[in-house]
Amino acid sequence: MGGGSTDIKLIDEKGIRLDGRRVDQLRPIKIEAGVLKNADGSAYVEWGKNKVLAAVYGPREAHPRHIQDPTRAVVDVIYNMCSFSVEERVRPGPGRRSVEISKVIADAFRNVIFTEQFPRAKIDVYIEILQANAGTRCAGVVAASVALADAGVPMMDLVPACAAGKANNQLILDLGKEEDNVGQADLPTAIVPKTGEIVLLQMDGHLTQDEFDRALQMSMNACMQIYELQKDALRRRYATSANDAPDTEEVRQ
Ligand code: UDP
Repeated sequence: MGGGSTDIKLIDEKGIRLDGRRVDQLRPIKIEAGVLKNADGSAYVEWGKNKVLAAVYGPREAHPRHIQDPTRAVVDVIYNMCSFSVEERVRPGPGRRSVEISKVIADAFRNVIFTEQFPRAKIDVYIEILQANAGTRCAGVVAASVALADAGVPMMDLVPACAAGKANNQLILDLGKEEDNVGQADLPTAIVPKTGEIVLLQMDGHLTQDEFDRALQMSMNACMQIYELQKDALRRRYATSANDAPDTEEVRQ
């Protein structure tokens, strides 16, 4: 957030944003499941100019043993921004921001994964931001939940995520980089569609109660659109695997 500057014009008189979107329009999103051979589950997401890869390992026995929980699986998330992901090179390794993002995403998934089915196990989720252009934590959640499903990890539901916010005194959906830099508020949200539960909610900037309610509704509506794209990615993955399998005739020969 740029401290609420309203001087820079991000939305024109017709309600069109710098990248040509309407205020309530998402950037284009593409999701592919099962992109990595050696992970138990994986997914790749392109969301506007964001490029995000997620990989899942587990559930497998947690090591060292003192980290084991006898009642449930431990869920660990590592969100990493690659050095080359932004214009100004990011310092490698975990910084304050990536540690915070890893934690809030892990908390979100702990509410969704049936961890009690895997006592003493660990589930590792790696989120690699290859290219960043605002909204990477949401893109990371979207990719990670498809990767978890691809790994066959039992969960209540997929977890779609999206941000809404405010720029030039108007509510907008899915902030791009300039909007994030100089806008007035950013509200990343992740939900469990089946229950309507919110599992991640953060806010940067300022909104009135009424604006907050409307922004939250906007991001939750967008989450339902993204949920369809997540399910579609898994359907395509399943269809590809079925086509790849040798048919019974071939097996018999
Ligand atoms: N960003 C950057 N360098 C950094 C951290 C962030 O250039 O060290 C950019 C990047 O494009 C990111 C955006 O700032 O997507 C917004 O970052 P924020 O912390 O709001 O998280 P995000 O919106 O990506 O979830």
